[in-house]
Amino acid sequence: MKKDIMTKHTKIVATLGPASESIEVLEEMIRAGLNVARFNFSHGEYEWHEKVMQNVRTAAKNIGVPVAVLADLQGPRVRTHMNEELVIESGETINIFDVSLDEEEIKNIVQDTKVITLDCPKIIEQLSVGNDILIEDGLMKVNIVDITEKYAVADVIDGGVIKNHKGVNIPDARIPLPTITKKDYSDLEFALAHSVDFVALSFVRNGQDLVDLRSHMKKIIGDEMTLPRIVSKIECKEALNNLDNILGATDAIMIARGDLGIEADPSRITILEKDILKKAIKHLRPVIVATQMLASMEHNARPTRAEVADVTNAVVDHTDAVMLSGESSMGKFPVEAVRTMAQIASETEISPYDDIYDVMPLTFSSEEVKIAHATHDFSRELNASAIVIFSESGYTARLLSHFRPDQAIIVVTNNIKTYNQLALAWGIQSFLCVGEDSRDKCIDETIESARDRGLIHAQDLVITVLGSTKAGKKLTLTGTRVA
Ligand code: PEP
Repeated sequence: MKKDIMTKHTKIVATLGPASESIEVLEEMIRAGLNVARFNFSHGEYEWHEKVMQNVRTAAKNIGVPVAVLADLQGPRVRTHMNEELVIESGETINIFDVSLDEEEIKNIVQDTKVITLDCPKIIEQLSVGNDILIEDGLMKVNIVDITEKYAVADVIDGGVIKNHKGVNIPDARIPLPTITKKDYSDLEFALAHSVDFVALSFVRNGQDLVDLRSHMKKIIGDEMTLPRIVSKIECKEALNNLDNILGATDAIMIARGDLGIEADPSRITILEKDILKKAIKHLRPVIVATQMLASMEHNARPTRAEVADVTNAVVDHTDAVMLSGESSMGKFPVEAVRTMAQIASETEISPYDDIYDVMPLTFSSEEVKIAHATHDFSRELNASAIVIFSESGYTARLLSHFRPDQAIIVVTNNIKTYNQLALAWGIQSFLCVGEDSRDKCIDETIESARDRGLIHAQDLVITVLGSTKAGKKLTLTGTRVA
């Protein structure tokens, strides 16, 4: 079925930064198709995060649509610790230290050789001869040729300028940091105090990391219905090996292709993306495909053809969301980048190529799954224009989204967290109904608001789905003609 280009189904996550911090730019980004605002806690001060979170909420309220706030925690990231920049040249030999030793001690050990220091204590103990160390998104690479008690000796493979605080990847070494670091716990406390809708965790290694994160958040927040949903960033080999138990324990995933393309074989990145997407969809876990999707738009007003192909590919593979990083946080064209992404998504969704894959079977079944499936079939049979669902936790709504109906999925909820969190789920337009006990009334009001927003029209048939009531679990399916 043809869909309106302005009501795209694929959601857009945009990383915020100096280019996108003002209410005015945020409003334009929301009008262009922004659904989730990502705050990267690897950068920025709390004061900035607080101000810009407020700006996002003001802009979303002004436009009248939900925009979720996602706090992205840095996780066990190793960085360079350099007092000054250092030029390294391919072919030369250098020494690698960690911050277990101070500058004086290092100077006493090596006098003439160039030194790179890493900010992670005890990392040297984890290194082996043959390990590659990649610096600054893999721009520079050294290979370990010898290990002593206090430092490693490495040959420079790809030279460059080593700067302070740049990201370091050591794909084959165990990083001696917990998945949730001290910094992450502080950032989490801030994020929870500011009621974020999603918490993303970087360098997740296994399902237990997520159990720990969830139980920590529960201790702080108490109320399960207001807990942020967890996004696991898949970006290291260990996560790929433990993908099933991560999917069992997480709420959503991000395919963090920046680090994943360094930690795993970069020529397999698109194959990995397809494999991860397929598995996550079967587990009913929303997916964000991230990094360098429209990278050239950091500087240019138009994307390259290869970037358009990349976004199209993710949409065809049924991702829930696509993400912007530097394009929206530091780039010259944050609004245009969102608009371009929205246009590519919409054009792909209305093309036959978006329909070449069938809905993937879920890894589990239940009464709710069968009812969602039946709702999808029923709506199709009756040629309805929309499905309107009352959903408190958002679960019924996400189940229905899994079946990717042709109809608009309009969800009304009395829970502000659910209202915002559904901004990440494919195809869902959510509405809020608070202070009203009657769910029937909430559905009636939502049908009117959806008509006013042009999502449905007079005389359209909509299928309404009412979930559990106070009296118990009950599901009512009704056909309603829009007045
Ligand atoms: C990535 O590595 O692709 C990613 C999204 O993570 P970050 O931006 O936190 O490095």
